[in-house]
Amino acid sequence: MTAPHAPGVPVVDHGELISTHPASGAEVGRFPVASADDLIQRVTRARTAATWWAGLGFTGRRARLLRWRSRLAHRVEELADLVHDETGKPLADAVVEIASAIEHVDWAARNAKRVLGPRRVRSRLIVAEFAARLEYQPYGVVGVIGPWNYPVLTPLGSIAYALAAGNTVVLKPSEYTPAVGQWLVDSLGEVVPEQPVLQVVHGLGDVGAALCRSGVNKVAFTGSTATARKVMAACAETLTPVLLEAGGKDAMIVDGDADLDAAADAAVWGALTNAGQTCIGIERVYAVEEIYNDFVAKVVTRAEKLTVGSEPDAHLGPITMPTQVEVIRRHIDDALARGGRAVLGGPDAVQPPYVRPTILVDVPEDALAIREETFGPTLTITRVEDADAAVNRANAVPYGLGGAVFGKRRPVEIARRLRSGMVAVNSALSFAGMSTLPFGGVGDSGFGRVHGDDGLREFGRAKAITVRRGPSLLPAMTFSRTPAQVAKIAKAVKIMYGR
Ligand code: NDP
Repeated sequence: MTAPHAPGVPVVDHGELISTHPASGAEVGRFPVASADDLIQRVTRARTAATWWAGLGFTGRRARLLRWRSRLAHRVEELADLVHDETGKPLADAVVEIASAIEHVDWAARNAKRVLGPRRVRSRLIVAEFAARLEYQPYGVVGVIGPWNYPVLTPLGSIAYALAAGNTVVLKPSEYTPAVGQWLVDSLGEVVPEQPVLQVVHGLGDVGAALCRSGVNKVAFTGSTATARKVMAACAETLTPVLLEAGGKDAMIVDGDADLDAAADAAVWGALTNAGQTCIGIERVYAVEEIYNDFVAKVVTRAEKLTVGSEPDAHLGPITMPTQVEVIRRHIDDALARGGRAVLGGPDAVQPPYVRPTILVDVPEDALAIREETFGPTLTITRVEDADAAVNRANAVPYGLGGAVFGKRRPVEIARRLRSGMVAVNSALSFAGMSTLPFGGVGDSGFGRVHGDDGLREFGRAKAITVRRGPSLLPAMTFSRTPAQVAKIAKAVKIMYGR
């Protein structure tokens, strides 16, 4: 291993993308950057493979995807080591991430037929002479663009579902995590050697942009809101459908009757796991007045014990993307300049490539740390009058990804009022590993869903078929209809719907 470049900064050298450990700068791997021709070739091969893959049917794909799942499960430590090397993430976090991803592969493989397969749908009295059938057919080739923060879970959240639905996939991993992307593609190739149903293209953002314009039939993007806008604009040129899983600014609400130890534990973990580089990370807490002081004390007690470093067993690893350190610093400085206080950490906590846990209080609502995605190990805790005020503040940002509520009497009611795609009640982030539930955001956090039944449907086109099963008593769709029949249709409509 060599350390030729600034730690963690991906470099393209002689047509190769070089990925390095974010703290030590040790080289993790070199990968050929895809040219425009390479990309077109991959998509062409993916299209041929898609015919074969779709032809296997749900049962054939299920068998192969379950073999892949077993392969991933057997090699969990090997993949976790690679995730640690490339992102700096603690080994335990990498294992948990991969375990969750494997669960999604398993669930998607087992449930695709039930959710997407051909079925009869009920007809209606007014069109009773027709039977209705529905199935979800694959799009063909899906382009998946992934981020670096969860380089296994986030791409697989799309890939597993897209493959189970009968599509083939071309993956563009983040320039920070090409080795993990390549590993995933190679591991599937070992159990499905016949056709390249999952391929990878390496490179910087321009390769992602080229993938959007390559003729793929759908793009599933996970990354920042700013890039999501570019992806959608590029896809608009060819009306290529998009799924956008973008950034977040998730809030936790702690009600007066909450179990404060459990809430503090979840807040610390939800905010600081993966050094806060989590799309559904808790970045803001709104705690009601009566428990506010106790809650803050419990959070600080827990957060100050956490270790930071690049050892595999540290609680928090380095900030993977060097430029993010300045964003985190700016948010802390801005919060303090506007009258906020750091009850743990603060400006001195920023020591690149690390940032120690920072808990901010009394931060006004117009501060960057409240309004924009920080993506670092910081947490604001704000005192509110009651849970209703907390909901209003939680909903006052353009993002709407996840969230959490702690309380005993009415947490589910509060959860339903949060403007977000997911909410964890009396836990944090737990919905991400729940393969039966959809995952995705509203507003600036994007649209479309991965995971669950909705996640499978995201990768299939609804195909509706009507089959005549008898003559029409009141023929409507023919030029042969008579004025008397049209009059009867009008009468029937009044009887059926006019009440
Ligand atoms: P980016 O938006 O910077 O990059 C995401 C991916 O898009 C990368 O593969 C990137 O390539 C690629 N890309 C960059 N420019 C373009 C372009 N013009 N057209 C197409 N693709 C492009 O996000 P990060 O990788 O920094 O990931 C962090 C962000 O992801 C955070 O905002 C986080 O909240 C969000 N995220 C959202 C999740 C969700 O499910 N909602 C889950 C996980 C993360 P390259 O890396 O080479 O620039």
